[in-house]
Amino acid sequence: MRKCVRCGLPETHARIGPDGLCTTCRRTPPPDHRAMKRRVERALRNAERVLLALSGGLDSLAALALTVRHVDEVVAVTVDTGSLHPEAWRRCALARRVTEVEWTVAGDTDNFVRLFRDRLRRNLSPCGPCSRMIRRRLRKLARETDADLIVTGHELPHGDRVLMPGDPPILRAMCGRTERERRELVREELGIDVPKLAGYTSNCVVLPFATALHPDPYGPELERLAAMARYGYIDPEDVTRIAEPPTPDLLRRLLGEAGPWLPPELKRTLEEVLNRLTSGSDPGPGNGEPRTSEPSSDASRGRSKAAG
Ligand SMILES: [Zn+2]
Repeated sequence: MRKCVRCGLPETHARIGPDGLCTTCRRTPPPDHRAMKRRVERALRNAERVLLALSGGLDSLAALALTVRHVDEVVAVTVDTGSLHPEAWRRCALARRVTEVEWTVAGDTDNFVRLFRDRLRRNLSPCGPCSRMIRRRLRKLARETDADLIVTGHELPHGDRVLMPGDPPILRAMCGRTERERRELVREELGIDVPKLAGYTSNCVVLPFATALHPDPYGPELERLAAMARYGYIDPEDVTRIAEPPTPDLLRRLLGEAGPWLPPELKRTLEEVLNRLTSGSDPGPGNGEPRTSEPSSDASRGRSKAAG
């Protein structure tokens, strides 16, 4: 199957021209990673007090590693969505100990668990609404803690914009840094190695289940991963492999690892999903809503990913 040489999108998902590029890649100028890094570092140096969204995944740990190099006052906050793998919690605690930053956990977990249940029951990805809920909480917390900047581990939206305006603005600290560079940062500064759970995620237990439910053979993550490749963060050859939905065996293992730590209601929801996937009684996507899930439909415009 032909694939776009820059973003890895297969021809089943994009029109690929004789030059080997998909339409979006042909329209998108190559990213200037060095300029983006300079802008990120300038924003960090200008900040006095930073609220850092820490989720124990590779991207947020890398953002923390970078932030502590430039900012004295860092408050790390973990929004407890109920969906974090116990290993992600362990890495948060470890990172806190190494960096000695202030760390708080913000929780209205029930609302997130309800969101996951409602979306997954309808075979819809919860990622977009979950990201927005997290962002609202971060903004509120930033005002309460007098932070003049929120830092997240995201690199989206793509393009040149590293700062999202707002009160306070959100800095997407991984703009201009490849996955390899993020791993190096986390290893150097925090001494932590971050394995993936499934797909690209290294912290969220819900995402692999949402991906497995999706009718697309490459799941709802494809567009986002292609955008990451387009902007030089991951290799185009890896896109379709990473986007492939996890197998029931992998989901079963994840549930075994994380199950005892999850809110009981979320654990039940994920067990239901697994049962539906393995019993073949999958009711099909969407219930009348558009098939395209939020993360993928937003990806080309550049969406924010909640969990780093
Ligand atoms: Zn492309």
